[in-house]
Amino acid sequence: MARPKNVKYVFVTGGVISSLGKGILSASLGMLLKSRGLRVAIQKYDPYINVDPGTMSPYQHGEVYVTDDGAETDLDLGHYERFLDESTSQASNLTMGRVYKSVIDKERKGEYLGGTVQVVPHVIDEIKDRLAELAKNGNYDVIITEIGGTIGDIESLPFLEAMRQMKLDMGERNLLNIHLTFVPYIKAASELKTKPTQHSVKMLLETGIQPDILVCRSEKPLSRDIKNKVGHFCNVNEVDVIGLNDCDTIYEVPLTLLQEKLDMRVLKKLGLKQFHEPDLVKWKEFCQRVKHPEGGEVTVAICGKYTEYPDAYKSILEALVHAGASNDVKVNIRLIRAEDGEEKGYDFAKELAGVSGILVAPGFGDRGIEGKIEFIRYAREAGIPFFGICLGMQCATVEFARNVCGLQDANSTEFNKRSRYPVIDLMEQQKKVKEKGGTMRLGSYPCIIREGTKAHQVYGKFLINERHRHRFEFNNSFRPAFEEHGMVFSGTSPNGELVEIIEIRDHRWFVAVQFHPELKSRVEKVHPLFHGFVGAARAFAIGEHQPELGVPAPAAPDAEPSADSAPVAGTPSFFVEEERPSAEG
Ligand code: GLN
Repeated sequence: MARPKNVKYVFVTGGVISSLGKGILSASLGMLLKSRGLRVAIQKYDPYINVDPGTMSPYQHGEVYVTDDGAETDLDLGHYERFLDESTSQASNLTMGRVYKSVIDKERKGEYLGGTVQVVPHVIDEIKDRLAELAKNGNYDVIITEIGGTIGDIESLPFLEAMRQMKLDMGERNLLNIHLTFVPYIKAASELKTKPTQHSVKMLLETGIQPDILVCRSEKPLSRDIKNKVGHFCNVNEVDVIGLNDCDTIYEVPLTLLQEKLDMRVLKKLGLKQFHEPDLVKWKEFCQRVKHPEGGEVTVAICGKYTEYPDAYKSILEALVHAGASNDVKVNIRLIRAEDGEEKGYDFAKELAGVSGILVAPGFGDRGIEGKIEFIRYAREAGIPFFGICLGMQCATVEFARNVCGLQDANSTEFNKRSRYPVIDLMEQQKKVKEKGGTMRLGSYPCIIREGTKAHQVYGKFLINERHRHRFEFNNSFRPAFEEHGMVFSGTSPNGELVEIIEIRDHRWFVAVQFHPELKSRVEKVHPLFHGFVGAARAFAIGEHQPELGVPAPAAPDAEPSADSAPVAGTPSFFVEEERPSAEG
């Protein structure tokens, strides 16, 4: 293995229990180091055997986060992007399945000819090679690697062994381990208990790893005495025991860690000179707006089929937090089971009382589809702001076909292959696809926006790039019928072939998109569509009249739009993001 030079590694492991927030800790540390002027990358190593999470149910894994380069990855990458304001890529997520696949492929090619292929050294070397990969281009000062799972799991042992060996290869000051543990508060004894942390560190020591820094999650702040005790038993200095008690919002975690001097301890241990002081003014303002918005509250319903498991909608929920802050309102979320809308006698007006925006979520498979269509119908007819994402746009298309265009059994061929009106159909390139993993339309694609539409109003430009993850699309043979009935195709692929955004001309806010805008919303760059949707919901909640947007009557745009345009007046400047390279080149 080539020894990575001039780059420092931080490994984040977790102990005691899962769900302590290793992803948020990694993202927060990355954000703090970046705000001090360091170039930081974060990656996630997952111990499961799937090559990527793309084939897993959201119930198993939560949301699948898609990167610009079309990788289907772990949802923690979403936290990294939101906190760091940096795009991740395929290289940012490695699973044990991908490691084994690569080793086995090499074995079949004869690359280990004559040898017995083993976990040590071959699997470990493969992991170390991947770890060195990100360092090669010299773009980073610090690479943070979050290791999935909890210490004690059999399956993550090869990752820990690779980390142990790397520390030996690279030397003390080039690699450190931050171990995140849990310090429970026992009410009856009014005490914080350190024993689980001691046990977790013992288990880590068994793998040959002495943690350098302990971050202790707890309900109550850790006193100096407790820090001292933890440090004493775990062979760590008291100053390297960092308390992380529960915050009101995940976006406050970096501020707590800053106070606890985590970033300074990391810099010191890695021998990095102190860059500039972090500038967190905007971040703090954002937290303030999240916690104490001045514009009141709005309630948004998210209609989907994984509502018992909100991690399935992680990026959507976070994008709504960002949009709440940018609109200065608190966004209350009501998660609604799509199937409820299928029940006979379901009283939409009663059940959705107080809701001022309805978002229909992405998804796969036919469970709850008819319910989603009914929720969309209600939003359209009652004039409630509506936002459809991916499958949400496809359902909005079916609803409009059936109930406005009069195409009675219109459907997506995902749900009914024999529909007379297949308004959503398999994309041409998808028709021959047999394998399930990584074969969808994935990653960033450009989209041209039509002037005078709501999409143009919120984006303030003609060319955008958004991330996709789907197999089906709008069936172009139905475009004229839809346009005749008041549907506007406000965004298409540059060649005009693929419908990417639809709107209803005479509705206050009925916008649906084939892509996943939630994946690109960030703390300091709220996604324009989420900002627009929450803005519309807010206006609806207070009975404000929506200004006429001047959406054009259906007609082919006559002039070629320029590649970009000045932002529309009144569009906050943080909407104007830089173009990123797209998968189409
Ligand atoms: N199931 C739909 C498709 O494959 C939508 C996918 C999604 O919502 N991500 O096209």
